[in-house]
Amino acid sequence: MPAKKNISATSGPTAPAKVGFVSLGCPKNLVDSEVMMGMLAQAGAELTPSAEDADVIVVNTCSFIGSAQQESIDTILEMARHKTGGKAKRLVVAGCLVERFHDEIRKNIPEVDAVVGTGELEKILAAAGVVEAPRAPSPFNILGSTTLTSRPEGDHRRRQGRFARDSWDGAVADLPNYLYDDHTPRVLATPGYSAYIKIAEGCDHPCSFCIIPQLRGQFRSRRFESVIAEAERLAQSGVREITLIGQDTTCFGEDLGLKDGLALLLGKLAGVAGLQWIRFLYAYPNKITGRLLATIAAHDNICSYIDVPLQHASPTVLKRMKRGGGADLFLRSLEKMRRAIPAVTLRTSFIVGFPGETEREFEELCSFVKEAAFDWMGAFGYSDQEGAGAFNHDRKLSPREIESRRKSLMSIQKKISRAKKKSLIGREFDLLLEGTSSESDLLLEGRTAMHAPEIDGKVFVNDYPEGNEPKKGEFYRCRITAAHDYDLVAEIV
Ligand code: SF4
Repeated sequence: MPAKKNISATSGPTAPAKVGFVSLGCPKNLVDSEVMMGMLAQAGAELTPSAEDADVIVVNTCSFIGSAQQESIDTILEMARHKTGGKAKRLVVAGCLVERFHDEIRKNIPEVDAVVGTGELEKILAAAGVVEAPRAPSPFNILGSTTLTSRPEGDHRRRQGRFARDSWDGAVADLPNYLYDDHTPRVLATPGYSAYIKIAEGCDHPCSFCIIPQLRGQFRSRRFESVIAEAERLAQSGVREITLIGQDTTCFGEDLGLKDGLALLLGKLAGVAGLQWIRFLYAYPNKITGRLLATIAAHDNICSYIDVPLQHASPTVLKRMKRGGGADLFLRSLEKMRRAIPAVTLRTSFIVGFPGETEREFEELCSFVKEAAFDWMGAFGYSDQEGAGAFNHDRKLSPREIESRRKSLMSIQKKISRAKKKSLIGREFDLLLEGTSSESDLLLEGRTAMHAPEIDGKVFVNDYPEGNEPKKGEFYRCRITAAHDYDLVAEIV
């Protein structure tokens, strides 16, 4: 990496600017924050975890559903107070909310000095008022060397208007096409032993409840070698767990002409020295191939863990969602996964209360959840998004009805989860220790390969051999001694 360069900030020509980040939303957004922090740090800015201490505050926003938009706006307003009554001199808003409400943010929140969309991360330097000293051209690629490609499916959807933002007031006009690579500077916000790698950006699917394709653009994969190079560098710096992310990781490489790209990538990553857990999130149901399953089964350091958001199980609702499939097909597919990987952990998520969801269709979903017996399940109430296909559907359910259905689906899963967790008592697993528990100073906590970072339940550790205090970021063998609805209790053996 090139050495840090001298910078000046608008707040003071000699002192490095102190920049504080608030990253909202999903791990994909977190990686964008890490890239922007990397660019700022490389340019000489100092990163601070404290908003009180920051000269510049960046809020990287989420715009997935209504509640995420509200949280983003509340956070911007909260951070604006550090500018009006505190030390901060600049407030920058980045991320998905900018793609959607570019002009509105500038118009309605005068404290905001600059906005940075998801496709223009390199603009963070100018937005933060961090000016690089003149220098020779950098060997780093920030935008250029990755040749952007597209899938025929995505090109077709573009022609159909899937990515159009014309109906949105105040949106950024151009679709983002940014993609970071292994040369892009990045500062990890996760603990040093675990990191996300974004392997693709954008989405070509037509799901009628979702505006992510309009926010993030057409699907595009990072180059295969770039992902491997980044994983090698992370492993050399002490990372032991890698989680591959993208809106749809199972399409990885299709735009580069690769068949079974994710399986090939996982197989190669399994050979990277030092990586103990490799997993991927967000599989698309009909993209889980036999080769992908065989690759997971063949490597000890690829977690036997599949997160496949199914969104619903009623074929008629799925058709209206523009996804296809249904309970019977999904059950066969789950059986195939369980046959190929006997100890597989399966996670999914559903949207409850999609427009027109009848009692009968909801019952189909409930029966499917009982039969499928997922290890982990999330349920979200349908949220209306202007610009999504479902926005114009009639027969919308009331928020009260949606929440009541969501709760009853979760109560079905709670019983399944409780029984599944109970069946683990007495069994031994590898555990990654994550430090003192957030619930009690008297407990430690960690995760097994069955637990993806931040989304699944926890494993509380209440006992370990005397004189061998476990260390954060290290792996230990543990035995499960008790189980709750979602969490486990273990002792280190
Ligand atoms: S697969 Fe569907 S739900 Fe997921 S990001 Fe793409 S369009 Fe949205």
